[in-house]
Amino acid sequence: MQVSLMHHTELKICSHAIRTCWQSFEKGDEGGDVDKELIYRVGNKFKHASTLEHLNYTFYIQGISRACLQELARHRHASLSVKSTRYTLKELRNEKEFAPFDFKRAEKYLVLCKNEEVDNASIAALERLRLILQGTISLDLAKYCLVESYKTELTWTANARSLQNFLELRSSKSALWEIQNLAHAIFEALPKEHRFLFEDFVNK
Ligand SMILES: Cc1cc2nc3c(=O)[nH]c(=O)nc-3n(C[C@H](O)[C@H](O)[C@H](O)COP(=O)(O)OP(=O)(O)OC[C@H]3O[C@@H](n4cnc5c(N)ncnc54)[C@H](O)[C@@H]3O)c2cc1C
Repeated sequence: MQVSLMHHTELKICSHAIRTCWQSFEKGDEGGDVDKELIYRVGNKFKHASTLEHLNYTFYIQGISRACLQELARHRHASLSVKSTRYTLKELRNEKEFAPFDFKRAEKYLVLCKNEEVDNASIAALERLRLILQGTISLDLAKYCLVESYKTELTWTANARSLQNFLELRSSKSALWEIQNLAHAIFEALPKEHRFLFEDFVNK
């Protein structure tokens, strides 16, 4: 999978929001160490976490499975715009046959889990779909036989509070392996100067 950070709010917006409560703007340092300490203390330590909602992060996430997407989509305090299979499944029409054990070619469309039996079953489903698409069938019908391992991509926006919750739940060893990988990749994509807000929530 690939995760890139497209946009983020500057820390000084969050410290300004916090300082609004006490009108202590003159004590700020434009998102420097003083402001960072304040954001950590108020947002994380004192749990006045609504102040963290002023920090937004937009990621472009590519190459996750629809199984992983389904779990990501359960995080209600985030916004998603997902590649539509209704419009894009025609990408399979011009492909050549997907043969068993041809993991290299299949990986363009499938998230493989490195279990031969499961991955070959995914390839068989992909090939079946490819054959169905050779006819005049509408994509709205063809999409119903998609496998969960089919790759997708999305633009995902979350605020810092929601992101903390996501990282805590999904970097846990009890989460699905793929969303654990996604949680770590999202953390790695964060600006270095923002990571202090999230480090306590990531299961190393
Ligand atoms: C290990 C693991 C296993 C899971 N297994 C399953 C499963 O088997 N079946 C299944 O259906 N789901 C499962 N889930 C998904 C889980 O139930 C949540 O839907 C998902 O993790 C999103 O978490 P969230 O609700 O905290 O996030 P968000 O929807 O982003 O919400 C963030 C926070 O806002 C608050 N909030 C949001 N909505 C409400 C509300 N309506 N009322 C009150 N407070 C609210 C809560 O404090 C919540 O933590 C699993 C998750 C994990 C991590």
